[in-house]
Amino acid sequence: MKKTLLVTGAAGFIGSHVAEALLRRGDSVVGLDNLCTAYAPARKQANLDAVRASACAREQWTFVQGDIRDRPLLDRLFGENAFDAVIHLAAQPGGAISIEDPPLSADIHLNGTLQLLGAAKETLVGNFVFASAAGVYGDTPAVPCEESAPCDRPLTPYAATKRAAEMLGFSFHHLYSLNFTALRFFSVYGPRCRPDSLAFQIADGIRNGKKVRLHRKGQIHRDWIAVDDLVAGIVMAADRPLGYEILNLGRGEPVLAADFVALLERHSGGRAHLIPALPPDFDSPCVFADIGKARRLLDFAPRVSLEEGVARFWEWYRSEPSAAL
Ligand code: NAD
Repeated sequence: MKKTLLVTGAAGFIGSHVAEALLRRGDSVVGLDNLCTAYAPARKQANLDAVRASACAREQWTFVQGDIRDRPLLDRLFGENAFDAVIHLAAQPGGAISIEDPPLSADIHLNGTLQLLGAAKETLVGNFVFASAAGVYGDTPAVPCEESAPCDRPLTPYAATKRAAEMLGFSFHHLYSLNFTALRFFSVYGPRCRPDSLAFQIADGIRNGKKVRLHRKGQIHRDWIAVDDLVAGIVMAADRPLGYEILNLGRGEPVLAADFVALLERHSGGRAHLIPALPPDFDSPCVFADIGKARRLLDFAPRVSLEEGVARFWEWYRSEPSAAL
């Protein structure tokens, strides 16, 4: 059955892919994004162009430039549309930016999420999917990370406010029976990825001869997941109200940053100009996901190998004019 969904952060990296996936299967999507300047809004416009092009019919896709903290706007959107699900991706992603401006992180992640939860419970939305982050695990030595870990030592305001928003979801589930699934994304990469991500920085370094800071000589493990796999998990979560759950979305395999860089170099045929850097205070040497719970509850099964994912990313970076914006 065709559905109607609200996707917040729809002009961003992950949000634009989610919107496309929903449109491709025939759903109606309202995308909400304030096109904030955390990175060039022109990139977000290019993402929106791609989304618009993937709608089978014009009326399937509505984009609203607006803020998730604007409650009258939300009430209007929720009043005009009977949303089957909300996929809430809008955020100020990244630890570093949250250290520069903690009140902004708190306002977007807490106040913004609360406004959305309030509007969703008023109109009895069937399911609310929230983008959380692996950062909530902090500097845990317990890997692979399991959802049942305490997560009470987040290292940045970004991670702390993501964890707090997961907990607000529990309150709304408890008080109003709202279905709420928090998805903890690990390191997502692929076409349209954010310019501050390692994948983008390395590609940019290779193509433009820019120096790229790599700390610990790349001897850190991350769980890189291709955006196509991540999006499949998000859509599965939107389709399955689960009461209240928290689920990891990664590939479940640790990969050295140095190996990720080497793979990108191989696909591009170029060399990254790496310079050593001190690790930031909030860095963890090894983070990867236990994805057993997502496999069980969503039938989540990542299919894109690192080799294939990196090849797709490089192909986009090489050929897409918006990558050079
Ligand atoms: P992104 O910055 O590309 O997308 C976020 C979008 O939210 C942007 O388009 C931005 O304009 C919009 N936005 C920000 N504040 C807003 C507000 N107040 N109102 C409306 N829109 C607003 O980032 P992304 O990488 O696509 O991340 C999407 C989600 O996934 C975020 O919640 C992020 O925390 C989470 N996440 C991403 C990763 C990753 O590796 N990319 C990892 C973990 C978690």
